[in-house]
Amino acid sequence: MATPRVMLIAGNWKMNGLVDDGRTLAQAVAAGASEAGCELLVCPPAGLLSTVAAALSGSAVALGGQDCHPEVSGAHTGDISAEMLSDIGCGFVIVGHSERRADHGESDDLVRAKAEAAHRAGLTAVICVGETEAERDAGQADAVVGKQVLGSVPENATAANTVIAYEPVWAIGTGRTPTPEDVQAIHSHMRNVVSERHGGEFGANVRLLYGGSVKPGNATELMGLEDVDGALVGGASLVAEDFLAIAANSG
Ligand code: PEP
Repeated sequence: MATPRVMLIAGNWKMNGLVDDGRTLAQAVAAGASEAGCELLVCPPAGLLSTVAAALSGSAVALGGQDCHPEVSGAHTGDISAEMLSDIGCGFVIVGHSERRADHGESDDLVRAKAEAAHRAGLTAVICVGETEAERDAGQADAVVGKQVLGSVPENATAANTVIAYEPVWAIGTGRTPTPEDVQAIHSHMRNVVSERHGGEFGANVRLLYGGSVKPGNATELMGLEDVDGALVGGASLVAEDFLAIAANSG
């Protein structure tokens, strides 16, 4: 049965900020969170997680990692496990961001293993998918995104432990966005794909975020679309005022 989907506005800070910056930004987001009217999540770089966890303590803002390794622990230099993220205070982790798929050659199989690790550790996985500009121009956006969704979402995922973020690669950090009609069409397609694979209850309840150059000025239109349940925000999440304005414009 479908329950109303609560809007989630998530900030992906990427590889930005030193300890003082992270603390200041987190404190500012926490201070404005009660007026947001939706769920807020910030995903700082791993080195800032503890500082940000302390700054968010007592607020309604959730904390997430930007990536995790499939294993619990072991000889994996430079990686962080889902259990470690949970231990620091994370409730979420982003997996399969296009920058990791491109920079680190991450496949759908690896992304799925990371999402399974997130679930094992009790985290909600924010699974990212999205087509390149060449794929969209070739009319392949639905096929590419559908394949990524099928390959990246674990078999036993639930709508409670999984969020899917549609982020067209060509819209990330470029100031360009698809038309609202195109965003709604591909989100509706994703909902159909997951409904067929994981059942109607999952399809009706899973939150589908849009990401790619979301700003205060375009949030109302994009977040008002029927099958858009929030945003994954990069650049604008580094300015508390903008991040909170996106949330305010999305309610
Ligand atoms: C992102 O990388 O997840 C993202 C959406 O970035 P931006 O908002 O800067 O386009």
